[in-house]
Amino acid sequence: MISRLHDPDYPRWASQIHRTGGCRQPIHLRGKVEHWDTATGTLLHRYSTRLEPDGVLRVPCKTRRASRCPSCAEVYRGDTYQLVRAGLVGGKGVPETVAAHPCLFVTLTAPSFGAVHTRREKSDKVLPCHPRRDAETCQHGQVMSCTTRHGADAVCLGEPLCPDCYDYTGSVLFNATAPELWRRFTEALRRRFARLSGMTLKDLREQLVVSFAKVAEYQRRGVVHLHAVIRLDGPTGPHLPPPSWATGEVLAQAVQHAVSAVAVKTPAAPGVPARVLRWGKQFDVRPITMTGDLTEQAVAAYIAKYATKAAECVGTLDRRIVPTEDLATLPIRDHARRLIAECLRLGALDKLADLRLTQWAHMLGFRGHFSTKSRRYSTTLGALRAARAEHQRDEAITTGRLPLFDEDTVLVLTHWGSTPARATPPETPSSPPP
Ligand SMILES: [Zn+2]
Ligand SMILES: [Zn+2]
Ligand SMILES: [Zn+2]
Repeated sequence: MISRLHDPDYPRWASQIHRTGGCRQPIHLRGKVEHWDTATGTLLHRYSTRLEPDGVLRVPCKTRRASRCPSCAEVYRGDTYQLVRAGLVGGKGVPETVAAHPCLFVTLTAPSFGAVHTRREKSDKVLPCHPRRDAETCQHGQVMSCTTRHGADAVCLGEPLCPDCYDYTGSVLFNATAPELWRRFTEALRRRFARLSGMTLKDLREQLVVSFAKVAEYQRRGVVHLHAVIRLDGPTGPHLPPPSWATGEVLAQAVQHAVSAVAVKTPAAPGVPARVLRWGKQFDVRPITMTGDLTEQAVAAYIAKYATKAAECVGTLDRRIVPTEDLATLPIRDHARRLIAECLRLGALDKLADLRLTQWAHMLGFRGHFSTKSRRYSTTLGALRAARAEHQRDEAITTGRLPLFDEDTVLVLTHWGSTPARATPPETPSSPPP
């Protein structure tokens, strides 16, 4: 730190760090950009990282994960908030009339895989965890009752009353099939609308589009819940209202129907019978309003918050598990360790290979995207990022850091390479170490 502070390049270095927004793991770029006038063949401007401190330009890592880089995750959270909110009240290219479209906030839960320690509150009072007067004792000698009123940060929250009775197989198989369950749910929703209106699916598409934005949230017990904004539009998306018969009540009924109608069957494997997995019985369907409890701001903030989290809040790792690692020595909760071990056990079975449980063991079996939206829901994260980049470029031109040039007559030549400042094991599959 002292040598950095006394370095003549310190102001430039500090300005680079400032411009990454305080990224914890900036990417180090090496390269150059040249602007050539195509008419006269003269070089208008040249930028090279050779003259930068340490010969690199630091750019933000742009992760969405708060556990890896809080400042970049904060940018991602803000973008997700704007994206979700635009789909509820308009803005960012979405007309304000979208606010009048039928729209619901839906939470789809996982079923129970065994009793876990929970903290329940009722009118500001904490209730006993899992009280059972005539509780049975399980075959492992554990009384299946817990009368403790757990604190909000109790470490046992989400952990099974008896880990040996807990259905770890069901838990990881549910996570693995949740994306498919969601896909079938959206299909069932469309089919329900087609049936209600007496149309074919193809004809329905000419009249109505179901748009959504959704996010996955890990419960402390290690299963995912999905929170989704589901909105009805006309055939071209948010610019046209849906037909008058497609009201909020009809949407709520269709959601109720679709949640209970869909199921996914996992293949049978040696020692693991085929299983039919469904959404949990407890699901929540609520209208989004401009005032009251569930405003568009509250919904957008809620979804954006979960978009920057992953399974690490369950006490697992936020990176892939390398085959050579010893699971027993990883610094994780025992409950997470057993969920990961179950992923690795099932992942080794040929019949279940399609679920890719080994690769996604650190996510406890879930390999879906954390936050997704349908094409017509609202703007895209890419469009929001492009707008920000353009704003920064304009600012650079205004402050003289970049020349003002005519894009039609100037050729921009770039040559870039990068090295991560701090190695984070990649999300994409890589070959194991030799
Ligand atoms: Zn970052
Ligand atoms: Zn308890
Ligand atoms: Zn037991």
